[in-house]
Amino acid sequence: MPKYFGQYGGQYVGEVLRPALDELAAGFAKYSRDKKFLAEYADLLTNYAGRPTPLLYAANLTRELQGAKTYIKLEGLANTGAHKINNALGQVLLAKKIGKKQVIAETGAGQHGVATAAACARLGLRCEIFMGAIDAARQQPNVFLMKQYGAKIHIVEDGTRILKDAVNACLKNWTARAADTHYLIGSALGPYPYPDMVRFFQSSIGREIKKQLWQKEKKLPDVLIACCGGGSNSIGMFAPFLRNKKVRLIAVEAGGRGRKAGQHAARICSRSPLGIVEGYKSRFIQTDDGQVLPTHSVSAGLDYAGIGPELAALAEARRIEFLTASDKEVLQAYQYLARTEGLLFALESAHAAAAALKIIPRLGQDQIAVINMSGRGDKDIFITAAELSKKEWGEFLKQEVERLCG
Ligand SMILES: *Cc1c(COP(=O)(O)O)cnc(C)c1O
Repeated sequence: MPKYFGQYGGQYVGEVLRPALDELAAGFAKYSRDKKFLAEYADLLTNYAGRPTPLLYAANLTRELQGAKTYIKLEGLANTGAHKINNALGQVLLAKKIGKKQVIAETGAGQHGVATAAACARLGLRCEIFMGAIDAARQQPNVFLMKQYGAKIHIVEDGTRILKDAVNACLKNWTARAADTHYLIGSALGPYPYPDMVRFFQSSIGREIKKQLWQKEKKLPDVLIACCGGGSNSIGMFAPFLRNKKVRLIAVEAGGRGRKAGQHAARICSRSPLGIVEGYKSRFIQTDDGQVLPTHSVSAGLDYAGIGPELAALAEARRIEFLTASDKEVLQAYQYLARTEGLLFALESAHAAAAALKIIPRLGQDQIAVINMSGRGDKDIFITAAELSKKEWGEFLKQEVERLCG
C-alpha cells in the first residue's frame, strides 16, 4: 500500500515510533484479508453496533423542497450514537489480534473517547484516554460516560490544555510503551497506515448505502453529502463510490461564525496551506510560518485545524466538492430536520443537512440525494438548548446547581 495520496499523507514520526507503525501496517494488511477476523468484526457491527443502520426515505423533506428524492443514512442509530464506533471496534479488535494489552487515545470533545472506551469494554482491553484539562472541564458528560465504560482518564495540563496538547501527551505516552499498547486514532488522519485503516473500518457506511439504495431504487445515488472534520464519516460514505464518476460527492466543512482566522474550521474552502502536523502532510489552518491557528465551530467534532490526507487529495483532484455551512445555518437545519422528519441531527451532521437544504431544491426530481446523519443530537443538548432556549435552560441549570450544591 502506498504511504501517500498524491502529495498528502506520509509517515512523519520519530524513529522510535517507526517499528510500532510498521507492525500496525503489517497487522492491518494481514487481518483486513483474514476471513476469521472479518467475520468477528462483522458480528460486532451487527450485534453490538446495530448495523446495518437504516437508510430512511426523507418523504416530508422531499415533498417540501421539490428537488431530488432524498434519503438519510442513520449512523446516529449506531450504538454510542455515531459512526465513530465502526472504527473503534475495528481498531480494538485488530489491536487484540496483534497482541496489544491496552489501548490509548486522545479526545477533544469526548465522542471518540466514548466510542473507544465502549469498544474496549466490549472486547476486554484496558483503555486510557488523554484529554486537555480545558476540554475535560467543558465536556464533563463525556468524561463521566468514559469512566462508566471503565476507562482511565489522563487530564493533560501541558500547553494550552486542549486537543493538540492531548495528542502530544498521547504520542509521548505511546513512544514509551508501544510494544504492548495500541494508539487508536479516531479520524481518517495521522501517519500511515491510520488513514487507510480508518477508511477501511468506516466504509461499511457507503457499502450499505449502495446496497440499500439498489434494493429501493435499482440505481446509484446522484449526490452524497457528508460533514467533514478529520474526514472519517465522509470517506466512509464516499469510498465505495469513488470509481462511480457520475456520483457527486460533497463534503461540508465548519463555516463557523465567519471567514476570519479563528472563526471557522474550513481547511479546504479557506485554501489553507500545506503543512506537516501530528505525523502527516495535509492542509492545515495555520500561519505562513506554520503555526497552527485556533479554529471555531458550534460542533465540537468539526472544530479541528487539519483534514485527512486522502480528503485533501480528493479535493485537489476535484473528485470531492467542498462547501461550508455556518453555525447559524447549522442550527436552522438541526431544527428543520427535527420538525420535518423527527430526526435530531448531531451538530456535526447538521452541517451536511444545512448544505443539503441548499443543494436539493436545485436538483431534478428524478435525482437521488443521500445525506449522512453521522450522529444523533442528544449529546449536544448543552449547546442547542443554550442557543435555542436560553432562558428556560438557564433556569433549569440554576435549579440543578442549587439542588446539588445547595
Ligand atoms: C467526530 C464526529 C464527526 C467528525 O469527524 P469525521 O472524522 O470528519 O467524521 C462528525 N460527526 C459526528 C457525529 C462525530 O462525532
